[in-house]
Amino acid sequence: MNVCTTITQFRSALKQLQQEKIQHSGAAEATVGFVPTMGYLHAGHGSLLARARRECEIVVLSIFVNPLQFAVGEDLTIYPRDEQRDLAVAAEYGVDLVFMPTVAEMYPAGATSLTTVHVTQVTEKLCGASRPGHFAGVATVVSKLFHIVQPDKAYFGLKDAQQVAVIEQMVGDLNFPVQIVACPTVREADGLALSSRNVYLSAEERAAAPVIARTLAEVDDWLEDTSLTFADLQDRLEAAIHAQPLATVDYIECLQYPSFADLPQDLSCAEWLAQSGRRVLIAAAVKFGKTRLIDNRLLGGGHRV
Ligand code: AMP
Repeated sequence: MNVCTTITQFRSALKQLQQEKIQHSGAAEATVGFVPTMGYLHAGHGSLLARARRECEIVVLSIFVNPLQFAVGEDLTIYPRDEQRDLAVAAEYGVDLVFMPTVAEMYPAGATSLTTVHVTQVTEKLCGASRPGHFAGVATVVSKLFHIVQPDKAYFGLKDAQQVAVIEQMVGDLNFPVQIVACPTVREADGLALSSRNVYLSAEERAAAPVIARTLAEVDDWLEDTSLTFADLQDRLEAAIHAQPLATVDYIECLQYPSFADLPQDLSCAEWLAQSGRRVLIAAAVKFGKTRLIDNRLLGGGHRV
């Protein structure tokens, strides 16, 4: 496994590896699978790496805590980091190349004098509304990483379903020659979605946090009642999370996916899902103490993630 910290180093290491693979296999090309992360790797990241390993000849992992996607007052300075452990995990998953740049390498002129990428519409609600500037930071760094790595496939987790929609929109609009692969959310045994931020939780908060996943899972039972409208669903979701005293709701919303268009509030959820063939995202952002966790369920269109 080769670890590169500069763009020049990375590009030449990737080129060399591609030539070696082509010579070895006799194939015309060696496909590159890319998993962008902010590090502090867990089994959620691992699932993306494992899928990339199965589907591509070369697997590239990037580890970069991107300051551009954090607003002032968010957790940039305390974001958990453990490079040595991450490299050991990457090696276990059979990663070929790790790109681990410094902030100065990615933003040599500083983050303020930068050309940035703004995706409209799909960034307006949910995390786009509660974290202004977040998705411009994400779209900008992912654009840069796509230009640096030039992957055939890039793997993203549906735990960040809005992020997947933003990246797919950007890739379509700007003609990036990359296939986006959206992967299911990996969870702890009690349902809590794996997140690097889970380490912030106190023992009490950790015990309370599965309320989000538990509530999202209960939706299946609720949908058995065909008279349940989207307005009823919204009320039940809010009531279930509010019942946990340690939880402070940032948002819990049901929207069409991936357009984020509103849903007809007075119609039956089950009937609308069956008849429209469209997908519904139920997305939640909930704070436990200072820790903001997100999770979601995707319904309809054959998806139950
Ligand atoms: P992060 O390091 O948090 O920026 O995440 C890097 C990638 O891993 C993103 O595509 C995330 O959506 C994905 N990811 C994070 N947590 C999970 C999870 N629990 N299951 C699946 N993918 C995840």
